[in-house]
Amino acid sequence: MDAQHTGNQDRPDSALQQRVDERTAELSQALAVVEAQKRELEHALRMRDEIQLQLEAELEDARLLHGISAMLVDEHNVGELFQKLVDAATLIMRSDFGSIQRYDEARGELQLIATRGLNDEAVSYWQWVHPGRATTCGHALLKSQRVVVPDFESWGDISGSDDLIAFRAAGVRAAQSTPLLTRSGRLVGMITTHWTRSHEPQERDLRLIDIVARQAADLIERNSAAEALQHHARKLVEADRYKDEFLATLAHELRNPLAPIRNGLAVLKIGKPEQAQRVLPMMERQLHHMVHLIDDLLDVSRISRGMVNLKRARVQLSAVIDSAVETSRPLISAANHRFTITLPGTAVWLNADMTRVAQIISNLLNNAAKYTPPGGDIELVAEVIGDEVVVRVIDSGIGIPAAMLPRIFELFTQVDGSAERSKGGLGVGLALAKRLAEMHDGSVEVESAGGKPGAVFTLRLPIMASTTNVAEDDGSDGAPAKARALRILIVDDNEDAAETLSLLLQELGHVTSVVTEAPKAMAAALAFLPEIAVLDLGMPHLNGFDLARLLRAEPALRDTYLIALSGWGMEEDRARSRDAGMDHHLTKPVTLRDVEDALLKSIVAMGGGISKRS
Ligand code: ADP
Repeated sequence: MDAQHTGNQDRPDSALQQRVDERTAELSQALAVVEAQKRELEHALRMRDEIQLQLEAELEDARLLHGISAMLVDEHNVGELFQKLVDAATLIMRSDFGSIQRYDEARGELQLIATRGLNDEAVSYWQWVHPGRATTCGHALLKSQRVVVPDFESWGDISGSDDLIAFRAAGVRAAQSTPLLTRSGRLVGMITTHWTRSHEPQERDLRLIDIVARQAADLIERNSAAEALQHHARKLVEADRYKDEFLATLAHELRNPLAPIRNGLAVLKIGKPEQAQRVLPMMERQLHHMVHLIDDLLDVSRISRGMVNLKRARVQLSAVIDSAVETSRPLISAANHRFTITLPGTAVWLNADMTRVAQIISNLLNNAAKYTPPGGDIELVAEVIGDEVVVRVIDSGIGIPAAMLPRIFELFTQVDGSAERSKGGLGVGLALAKRLAEMHDGSVEVESAGGKPGAVFTLRLPIMASTTNVAEDDGSDGAPAKARALRILIVDDNEDAAETLSLLLQELGHVTSVVTEAPKAMAAALAFLPEIAVLDLGMPHLNGFDLARLLRAEPALRDTYLIALSGWGMEEDRARSRDAGMDHHLTKPVTLRDVEDALLKSIVAMGGGISKRS
């Protein structure tokens, strides 16, 4: 009973103890779990706080960027926009100063367009920055990537440079420059932020400045596209206005001489024969004026298309001036101007196309005569300065408004284009003079005291080194070729052109035959056996080239001198004529002088005037 009792007493104690131990172990485990959970919770709470802070910062950044975008949409003044972008950049980067530069492609340099905080000296000192200059932007421009300098004092690339002194004076110690690249990767500018203390921007700062840089790049690109568009639009409107003015002037100027010519014709038809004496010179004068206008127009168009070849030769300046004066004298005399000419004391030689240089000078003289009220003064002064001859045409006329001076050499530009005030021009003469001078490696310039009386036009041409050996043109107009009577076949589908050329050649004493249908030319040629055949190139059914080949292949016509007549006068056109067997190439409109020259050449080619068939 006792033993049982004791046994019974021992067992409950140890069992209890065991249970206590077990419970204690369980509790400590539970406590450890709770501790771990508590630590986890604390960690999670800390994380939450951090994330919250980060979110708040990002929200703040997002608000900032949103603000910038909104401001870019609202603001339409481009200058203001760039200013706001610099402000935003300095805010984001927590910098003291900032700047935006535009890349000028023509100069290959950066130009400051907006700044914040930089003083006036700094702004003017860094107005333009070339690639590689000792600044962050100079280096970023060179490498086309971002450059960060946390401390200029320890930046090897700047030590000893004037830029370092300027940075110190401006109070700049650190900077970063981020290139502004378009979506296609083209560099259009630079955005830079500066600090007064040494500073290295954080990753977040650089991420944000990249976003601002993107917007600035878009803005610059958009802005230059808009500017280019506006510029084109303005040019188009201007061109359209010029075109209208030009057409009005052209119609007026061409109609002016037509009226007297028409009246003259009526007089010739119904009037007394002796009246022809009075009417014909007048008609000739008016026709000459019209031809001159049209020639100028054609010349400009030919020069623009590269179709004018200079016939350069060694010519004397005095001969060129004589020729120009001869052309302009009637206009000068008609207006009763006093006219003086001063030439250099010694002979001056030019390597020039005599006719074309005379054309430049007579254009200037004609203008002096036209734009000077009657009884004025006109001077032509030529002198040698260095290796140039300088020809000045000075008048006491109405002068040219300052605003028009830069445009006066543009095609179809007239100071007063109104038909009532027109002096019989199309605004072509000066454009032509300028282009012809440039073709001679020279120039034409104008000076006028902005609307006050008088204008001075200056033509400069290189003079010829005396040793240069080129063909000499004696400057004489060249007496008409005294060709003996020749048999000349004219093949041209333009009946009027063929008929008038035939009349002209007959007047010069030649015998002509006209064919207006090219396929009939061969039979006509075999019947007529011409010494010379003038073949228009552009004809239906059979063009001039093919006709030339056919004629050349015919033994009876083998020695016929073939002259091509064409609207095209470029070297390749001449080469095509030569290939087809032509001996000479005449470019339309053909002058009497051209025809005479061609006939003279044909006589020389045929053996110095002794016709093989005569
Ligand atoms: P236009 O056939 O009209 O004379 P130009 O090209 O020769 O054409 O000249 C262009 C314009 O320049 C003229 O319409 C005139 O307004 C101005 N101009 C040219 N020469 C003179 C001058 N000597 N004095 C004043 N104005 C001039």
